[in-house]
Amino acid sequence: MHIGFHVSVAKSIDLAFDRALALGCTALQLFVTNPRSWRMSKLDAEETSKFIFKETIPAVAHMPYLPNLASPRREIYEKSIAALKANMGRCNDLEIKYLISHIGSTLGSNKGESLNRVVNAIKESIDFYEGMLLLENEAGQRNSIGSKVEEMREIYNEVGSAKLGFCLDTCHSFESGYDIRKKEVMEKIATVLGKERIKVIHLNDAKFPLGSCKDRHENLGFGYIGNEGFKHFFDNKWTKEKIIILETPYSSNITPQDELNLAKMLASQ
Ligand code: ZN
Ligand code: MN
Ligand code: MN
Repeated sequence: MHIGFHVSVAKSIDLAFDRALALGCTALQLFVTNPRSWRMSKLDAEETSKFIFKETIPAVAHMPYLPNLASPRREIYEKSIAALKANMGRCNDLEIKYLISHIGSTLGSNKGESLNRVVNAIKESIDFYEGMLLLENEAGQRNSIGSKVEEMREIYNEVGSAKLGFCLDTCHSFESGYDIRKKEVMEKIATVLGKERIKVIHLNDAKFPLGSCKDRHENLGFGYIGNEGFKHFFDNKWTKEKIIILETPYSSNITPQDELNLAKMLASQ
């Protein structure tokens, strides 16, 4: 089983592995560029080779927060494509096979045109990447794209590349109205997206109820999905065969070690 946290890359990117292994992770997620800036810091050859040397568990990358592949503003749109390519380039250098990206926000502009921009942005960049770009489902916040699995599938069909896949976030699914505790709901998700195309699961509990359209993660067992809910989620055998990443808050609810053990237990029953 491949399961772990999103970990910090502070000081040197290879330290992500040290931090993950110290917590008992058998997979990890990281940012390969600064998540809150458009600027790309340098990554030197020594850091890169240390990272590759330590790569004994799967590492997946998450795009920074600022890019919006659907932006109706040309300047932001072009910067977003550049950021996507830069992240792909860095993943190539670091031999990271999966890069996860949110789809974007219409910012209130026309939905069809927004979807076209997303498709074109992906088409323009995807051949640049040696790994797979995974689109993450959204929680259904206002103007966000990709909270409906049909919409994600439509983007996949339009792009027409086998290098495109999906990341399923349990909190986002639940808060956008998919009751992932129910077998028929999971079957629908698996059928529409294609379960073989879902490569990563973000295992987060939900701070707000089913269909609340918020995007607020909670520690496993402390939210509306709950331990019983996650057990049902993992009744679907395919879910435990994916790379599972926790993006839960650091809080006094539970220590990271206990939370990871809980996740392993829920996924292995
Ligand atoms: Zn995400
Ligand atoms: Mn997520
Ligand atoms: Mn989220």
